[in-house]
Amino acid sequence: MKRIGILAGAGSLAVVAIVLVARRWRPRGPAGLRGRAEGTVDAARRASPGATGASATEIAQDVYLLGPWGRTQTNAYLVADGSSWILVDAGWGSDGPRIQAAARSLLGPGPTPSAILLTHAHPDHAGSARELAQAWGCPVYAHPAELPLATGDFAAMARYAGPLDRWLILPLMRAIGRRRREAALAGSSLAGILRPLPSGGAIPGMGGWEWIHAPGHTPGHVAYVRAHDRVVISGDALLTLEVNAWSGLLRQSQGLSGPPWYTTWDRGAAVASINVIADLEPAVLAAGHGLPLAGPGTAAAVRAFAERTTLRPRRIGGFRRVRGPRGCPRTPG
Ligand SMILES: [Zn+2]
Ligand SMILES: [Zn+2]
Repeated sequence: MKRIGILAGAGSLAVVAIVLVARRWRPRGPAGLRGRAEGTVDAARRASPGATGASATEIAQDVYLLGPWGRTQTNAYLVADGSSWILVDAGWGSDGPRIQAAARSLLGPGPTPSAILLTHAHPDHAGSARELAQAWGCPVYAHPAELPLATGDFAAMARYAGPLDRWLILPLMRAIGRRRREAALAGSSLAGILRPLPSGGAIPGMGGWEWIHAPGHTPGHVAYVRAHDRVVISGDALLTLEVNAWSGLLRQSQGLSGPPWYTTWDRGAAVASINVIADLEPAVLAAGHGLPLAGPGTAAAVRAFAERTTLRPRRIGGFRRVRGPRGCPRTPG
């Protein structure tokens, strides 16, 4: 039941199904930032993955990639600010120990983060938020519009459902009955530790950064932006893993992609958010899935993708698939 509760967060069953299917395929090599033809990201402080699978790579000044991990190539990010730091996204429910191990590999055993920020409340991004927040004694922040989904509001789940929610998750949740449903939802709820991001874009404890609303995948999805060097942590609003093509998913192909259509609430808003991110002209695009994209061609690649997505919004479930730009980091294998 607890597992059902986690899945019910917002249609993650599709991801799980994809993982199960993908396991039938030959595993590829470990993810890393090797193989870039164009990227200029220096893996200055890469820690080797250990027994815990912990890995951390500096992708911009004071910004570290934790992951990608697993078949879904899920990322979290550690952002340092002076002597304090913040975690952006918290992986699946099983990712807590390796997120902690990755943070320790960079910072040692001492400092704990001042906060955990979520791009959105899906269980592959918020899954370990409660466990980590309790371990570190820190708050969790998300956009106000995301709070009902993160705190087990079944009516909100129905209101903001994506296709997979409508086809599978909601019928399943209704079928198990109210008491079991509420117990399942309570198991994955962030009630009591989740706070709304302050209005106006400011981020507590993260100087130089702001959040921008990038709805569509979910109603309260946000991106985190550092304006001075145009680093954008985009969550699932814009990915660097080709999740809208089965072949791309199964091969873990790195390339720009809109959010997975099957777990996206409002495709029109999602396309608009891709354009908002393109307008930021990112120099580093750090997505929720896939290897970060960096280098002199990044802004142009994102712009081209946004324009093609806008022009042909009906292909592949609302997001036209394009191949990654030359030099997009690829998973070695
Ligand atoms: Zn998502
Ligand atoms: Zn995701």
